[in-house]
Amino acid sequence: MTTLHEASLQSLLSDDDRARLREIFGQRVAFDEALAPYTWWRIGGPADAFVRVETEAELAALFGLAFKRKLPWFVLGSGSNLLVGDGGIRGIVVRLSGAFSSVAVGGDASTVTVDAGAAASMPLLVMQAASHGALGIDGLAGIPGSVGGSLRMNAGTDREFGEFVRDVVVQTPAKPEPHSVSPQYFYRHTTLAQDAIVARVSLAFARGDVAAVREATKSRLVRRKNTQPLTFPNAGSCFRNPPGEKAGRLIEAIGAKGWREGDAEVSEQHANFIVNRGAATAADVASLLARVRRAVAEQFAIELELEVHFVGVFA
Ligand SMILES: Cc1cc2nc3c(=O)[nH]c(=O)nc-3n(C[C@H](O)[C@H](O)[C@H](O)COP(=O)(O)OP(=O)(O)OC[C@H]3O[C@@H](n4cnc5c(N)ncnc54)[C@H](O)[C@@H]3O)c2cc1C
Repeated sequence: MTTLHEASLQSLLSDDDRARLREIFGQRVAFDEALAPYTWWRIGGPADAFVRVETEAELAALFGLAFKRKLPWFVLGSGSNLLVGDGGIRGIVVRLSGAFSSVAVGGDASTVTVDAGAAASMPLLVMQAASHGALGIDGLAGIPGSVGGSLRMNAGTDREFGEFVRDVVVQTPAKPEPHSVSPQYFYRHTTLAQDAIVARVSLAFARGDVAAVREATKSRLVRRKNTQPLTFPNAGSCFRNPPGEKAGRLIEAIGAKGWREGDAEVSEQHANFIVNRGAATAADVASLLARVRRAVAEQFAIELELEVHFVGVFA
């Protein structure tokens, strides 16, 4: 007899599904592909299929197949805000690449515009925008994600991604052709539909002095280097800051720095970061997060909310 857990580990793809994916994507589809290398935590079991999608037409074709065969899918950006379960992800994991990685900077005397594909790297976008004097871009410096993931998360610091968005083009299973949407942006989340994949984004910034913007960007990066545990795999801040509070301060106050579950450890340098000291599993990270959350609730009566997204099968 197969247990429920065993069943959750079985691939959902039939031989026909695999053949069709191979037909559309050739060597750009991998089956039973370990996801750990694609996440910043270096944690996560296999995807039934891992597909590198290079064009909007390919994404539309993939949606067509997933819809017809009732296959679940998940879009993975740079994996810098994700905890993928040790049991992996059933169905298709989509990784945008190719034409989705473009970044084009333009504008006029008063404005810097950036048109970027969803797979473009934020550090690259920030560097290019800063070198054109995009005011406020320093607030996005040091965020390691992709453009699509950063839009989904409304990533930021004192400035947020959503502040600069002028247009968002998405594709969905119901409407696979690229089309514009206007999500609303909140602290670390948006109203973007769950089943929408961001294909490209247009941003606009007031134009400022190039040297000053570059300097501001550089000093943000230096500050991060000095305050964040960047030598061990991590996913940035694990919990959202509660209103008027800092999650890191609360976690430090309960004495959690250095707490461990397996190889997962609450960073000594930044209490809201959990680092992978080597062979941490998703189960280790999940139980450490739960322990921290419980202790903060007991001491401060504050329920911390996760910023990192959990995805896939957890034991
Ligand atoms: C060292 C470090 C520092 C960080 N600092 C910050 C910070 O200062 N501020 C901050 O806000 N965050 C920070 N983060 C978290 C993370 O970088 C951001 O949340 C980032 O925007 C996530 O982008 P990603 O491409 O890695 O998304 P992923 O982690 O791959 O995915 C996150 C979510 O976005 C969805 N997604 C990804 N691509 C798309 C797409 N094309 N369309 C629709 N949905 C998509 C995924 O399905 C998932 O639900 C940090 C992380 C690290 C590791």
